[in-house]
Amino acid sequence: MSKFSDYNFANQKALIRVDFNVPLDKQTFAIGDDNRMKATLPTIQKILHDGGSVVLMSHLGRPKDGPEERYSLKHLVNHLSELLGGITVKFANDCIGAAAYKLSASLQPGEVLLLENLRFYKEEEKGDEIFAKKLSELGDVWVNDAFGTAHRAHASTAVIAKFFPPEKRFFGYVMEGEVTAAEQVLHKAEKPFVAIIGGAKVSDKILIIENLLERATDIIIGGGMAYTFFKAQGGAIGKSLCEDDRLEIAKDLLQKAALKGVSIHLPSDSIIADNFSADANTSTAPSNNIPEGWMGLDIAENAVEQFTNVIKQSKTILWNGPMGVFEMEKFQTGTKAIATAVAEATQAGAFSLVGGGDSVAAVNQFGFANKVSYVSTGGGAMLEYFEGKVLPGIAAVKE
Ligand code: AMP
Repeated sequence: MSKFSDYNFANQKALIRVDFNVPLDKQTFAIGDDNRMKATLPTIQKILHDGGSVVLMSHLGRPKDGPEERYSLKHLVNHLSELLGGITVKFANDCIGAAAYKLSASLQPGEVLLLENLRFYKEEEKGDEIFAKKLSELGDVWVNDAFGTAHRAHASTAVIAKFFPPEKRFFGYVMEGEVTAAEQVLHKAEKPFVAIIGGAKVSDKILIIENLLERATDIIIGGGMAYTFFKAQGGAIGKSLCEDDRLEIAKDLLQKAALKGVSIHLPSDSIIADNFSADANTSTAPSNNIPEGWMGLDIAENAVEQFTNVIKQSKTILWNGPMGVFEMEKFQTGTKAIATAVAEATQAGAFSLVGGGDSVAAVNQFGFANKVSYVSTGGGAMLEYFEGKVLPGIAAVKE
């Protein structure tokens, strides 16, 4: 049981920071993908079921200078009402101010109020204290359920916490799920623990790899970033993606891993192409001996076998970043094969977390989302968590 599920919200007005940053059609304002809204329904329903009332606050898009019709949360009211089984959702067309307070004050148990976009005020992203205090007056307790913004110290995601005593600050179910999964991997991992790191750039993943060197037993490096490591070791990589200004760091990471006894696995062979395009000519080559004019765009058969063997022996798996250019059919075999291996290891009892960016898109696209233990919804937030950073939105609830 958790603090949130243990608490009885009867007669409490819960101010919930949700992530309703959903895509809206530019002309009709129809909602393109409502997964973020659906994700937070259990949190809302628990409070209503207890006999509490709910005030929802969120950002939507990137308004530049005050209110903009296309970023108004009013476009979500009807759909939210439907998702909540037809109950009326009230709307305050300003997130602070007299009208919002009046609506909040008159809320009865079982009722829901949605506030207008927080980012219509510059103060939100600035983490302004006075603004945060004004928001805090709209509820008796504060629930943070917006993992996607947990890495930001904004007024509603972190600064607001100081206006509620610790016993009146909660993680909602979305936050709880994300934090529990991340902590399982970073702090309670059963060994062997493999981290699979892919994607385009080494520079984006250095901090993650450094943090994982303290925790993992194995690190698999795939995707475009692998070629910087091959070049750093004197390999020929043709015109594969390479960050020449990161060669020293790549060498350094390999040395640190050796010192710490962490096995680094680089793909022994690659699917190579004569062009970065969906209809390029393709072949296979050792990843450290790619002919001039060719580039590695996916891991090849031997690498798949090499990586699969490591994954299958692991009890904890963290996956961030695709193994190749999975957006093009010719170069998605490696990523699919790794998804299959992760699914099979999960089936056999391993804990697997897929998080942060394109590997999430890949498992969704290939239909593997239900076959891994947890798929994180928070791209940037999960990446910073993996880097070992303290996320303000999490610290604010815990402190
Ligand atoms: P990231 O956002 O860092 O996870 O990177 C994801 C991107 O890396 C995807 O768009 C992939 O197409 C790209 N990518 C993966 N492997 C390669 C590769 N071998 N060469 C170039 N781009 C790649």
